Amino acid sequence: MPELAEVEYYRRQWDPGIGRKIEQVTLHGEKRIFRGGKPGLIAQTLAGAKLLSSETRGKQMLFRFSRGDWLALHLGMTGELRVEPPDFAPGKHDHLVLFQKARALVFADPRMFGRVQFHHGQDAPKWWTDLPPEVGSAEFTVKLLSAALARRKGAPIKAVLLDQALFPGIGNWMADEILWQARLDPRTPAARFDPDAVRLLWKAARQIASTALKTIGVDWGDPPDDWLFHQRWKKSGICPRHGTTLTFATVGGRTTAWCSSCQPPQAVAITALSAVGGSGCSVASRKPASASIRRYSAKV
Ligand SMILES: [Zn+2]
Repeated sequence: MPELAEVEYYRRQWDPGIGRKIEQVTLHGEKRIFRGGKPGLIAQTLAGAKLLSSETRGKQMLFRFSRGDWLALHLGMTGELRVEPPDFAPGKHDHLVLFQKARALVFADPRMFGRVQFHHGQDAPKWWTDLPPEVGSAEFTVKLLSAALARRKGAPIKAVLLDQALFPGIGNWMADEILWQARLDPRTPAARFDPDAVRLLWKAARQIASTALKTIGVDWGDPPDDWLFHQRWKKSGICPRHGTTLTFATVGGRTTAWCSSCQPPQAVAITALSAVGGSGCSVASRKPASASIRRYSAKV
């Protein structure tokens, strides 16, 4: 499932259409991605409107149009946004296409776990503005993180990081990366972390979100070579710090990879804040990010 950086990448795909009018809309209104999404109204209303701006919030995107129209897209498991020429003929998975004079803005979703929602009003829909703050935002503070951990104290930290109500946009690979860079055992109950460990977790989460947005989020580029990212989807993956074979197990309902050496049980070995992000020797592979993401999207 796309995480915040992949969602940001897809959001940008429609950027060439910003400031331009929608001439015509074609959609597969009977498909389940439009459940509750007013497909008839979308087709009728967006034709003639101008695409003004877009933003992401965790795993969701919001596109703002002139005349007070808003289109929210959730990519689900297999959703993608792309641009095609204006004479493009939509395929069977191209469930929503906004035609402009110079291009077609396409939303495709083969497995249809995604969702399209429509809103009309001067302001963004309330459900959008009510979404929890993103990890990279100023509102995501150490205090907020402490409170979130306290609410889920019995759950393993990996499961808590995957809770979209607390950490929008953090998915399986990003949660593993955060815990590995912070040197925290993914099975540790959230309540076990002392203030230093919470701060370490907060710092790692923000750094990873920021770097992922600047690499994957911009052009599907590779994150740094010394990230766990490059190893975690391989059965024979190794810790980029010192080459130890990674441990794999189901934690929080998801396949989880960690290093038993630098992520010891119970989080007893909290390292200094300066450890976050750096990892010493790099033995990571040079798989393109796109290949890596797609492979473990299918596997994990
Ligand atoms: Zn290690």
